Amino acid sequence: MQNDKLLSVIIPSYNEQDMIAQTFKTVKEIMDGASIPFEIIFVDDGSKDMTYANITELADSNAEVKGISFSRNFGKESAIFAGLESAAGACCVIMDCDLQHPPATIVEMYRLWEQGYDVVEGVKSSRGKETPIHKFCANSFYGIISKLTDIDMTNASDFKLLDRRAIEALLLMPERTPFFRALSSWIGFKTATVSFEVQERTVGTSKWSMWSLVKYAIRNITSFSGAPMQFVTFMGWVMLIFSFIFAIQSLYRYFTGTALEGFTTVILLLLIIGSVLMISLGIIGHYISRIYDEIKGRPRYIISKRCGY
Ligand code: UDP
Ligand code: MG
Repeated sequence: MQNDKLLSVIIPSYNEQDMIAQTFKTVKEIMDGASIPFEIIFVDDGSKDMTYANITELADSNAEVKGISFSRNFGKESAIFAGLESAAGACCVIMDCDLQHPPATIVEMYRLWEQGYDVVEGVKSSRGKETPIHKFCANSFYGIISKLTDIDMTNASDFKLLDRRAIEALLLMPERTPFFRALSSWIGFKTATVSFEVQERTVGTSKWSMWSLVKYAIRNITSFSGAPMQFVTFMGWVMLIFSFIFAIQSLYRYFTGTALEGFTTVILLLLIIGSVLMISLGIIGHYISRIYDEIKGRPRYIISKRCGY
């Protein structure tokens, strides 16, 4: 049944009951209009609403629709990988369920794929409507991650097309907490970019709270780079330099007979060293916990149901 033109559209869906039918309809119209053979894989990421029921209903009446349901919420990255693993297409597009990624751009990506590109990255032409704080945090995060990974991630998104070869390369990566957005650049291959305008979410709300975004940022920085651990070494050197200066000063005072005050200096030094030590331990501890997570080798996700297969 392998079709060397088939496009698999992978849609991670978490509590998107109101979007499933509409998203399918929109994608189908555009694919049919452009005569692109496609299948659409909804990955229900442990939704608590009627998302999966709506997917099954759709799959019953449409041969293009396939559904995978997780046993609980495993996160968007897991949903993307589950989709990639079950995709039959010669290429895959990953897009959000809320139509914030305009499906019309898929056609543009597909045409570039036909011209021989293996990876087509969707790049946001603007970041859509966001609060100033959100914008600032996102900019800092992507600034850091671009520096650390040497990949320009400023306007990166998860909206992209991958050729079968790129998919195989991604699926070879065993990591438990993959950072899809950067991994797809990390694997290399012939890459093109298309820019798209982030659409407004019409139904439902964003699944990301500020706190989950902070966790996402920390996890992805540490999963791509050991640089924060260099910070520990760096602080060690800074402390060493200070200790030389203070040692000379203290000895000088001792020999000139003016020693013995300086309680403030001592208490401040203790506090500073204490905090630096604890932060450093925390950073190292974070990496150890990441190693622990990886070493357990648990699956990235658990599938409880499938439909349309
Ligand atoms: N999503 C998911 N699992 C999650 C959170 C989100 O599969 O734990 C999906 C969600 O259904 C949507 C996409 O990821 O299709 C993007 O989520 P959302 O629109 O909430 O994020 P935002 O657009 O605000 O970045
Ligand atoms: Mg969204």
